[in-house]
Amino acid sequence: MYIIMLGAPGSGKGTIGRELVKKYDLSYFSTGDIFRDEIEKNTELGIEVNKYLSEGSLVPDEITIKIVEEKLKSMDKILLDGFPRTIKQAEKLDEFLQENGKSITAVINLNIPDKDVITRTSHRVICSNKNCGASFNTMFMPPKKDGICDICGSKLIKRKDDKPETIKDRLVQYHKNTQPLIDYYKKEGLLDTIDIDIYSNKTKEETAENAGKLIEKKINSYK
Ligand code: ADP
Ligand code: ZN
Repeated sequence: MYIIMLGAPGSGKGTIGRELVKKYDLSYFSTGDIFRDEIEKNTELGIEVNKYLSEGSLVPDEITIKIVEEKLKSMDKILLDGFPRTIKQAEKLDEFLQENGKSITAVINLNIPDKDVITRTSHRVICSNKNCGASFNTMFMPPKKDGICDICGSKLIKRKDDKPETIKDRLVQYHKNTQPLIDYYKKEGLLDTIDIDIYSNKTKEETAENAGKLIEKKINSYK
């Protein structure tokens, strides 16, 4: 099973994705997490990609694709968050899956207005524990205890690229490079869209349930 999460930064790909991972017993795979981890460990790759992440631009396709292919080889039931992010990456993924006799099960597109992305990401805090990776929002989804992760008790921190200036650059990148994937997967008959309303008080569990129904509908349509 291969599930792809599409959506602007702050649309909730990671949050909803992690709920789906629990529900369907999938492995969670986030290129953003991989890059941030490498940066923190100060590896050669981390040093190379740091400039792209800190300015809100995309890591070049050649670097991203190489890393993803290496990791994907050893994984099966997975949910991809943040990959593919360009048409080139999507084509490479299709090629890779085909060569390995696999296919994409469903693509869930989380649709959110740009102005809400800015509001939401400027209040986002994430868990400092890499193995947890939970995300909270001081305005919309506060943790039970200030500054502490509900799930693992670690400290909550702000992502360096969640500053309004960088978010604006990430949105420009999103519209230019990633939005075209909506049509790409629509043509393949794989796309389902969920509209995200940050003021609706919908819980992440409710949105994940909605996404789950769409995935199951896809699975049933292949039978
Ligand atoms: P968000 O979806 O909130 O923007 P991510 O954690 O998915 O956050 O990505 C953070 C950053 O990592 C991006 O702004 C980009 O620089 C880099 N990145 C992540 N995935 C990719 C990818 N597939 N291709 C190129 N760059 C990527
Ligand atoms: Zn945590």
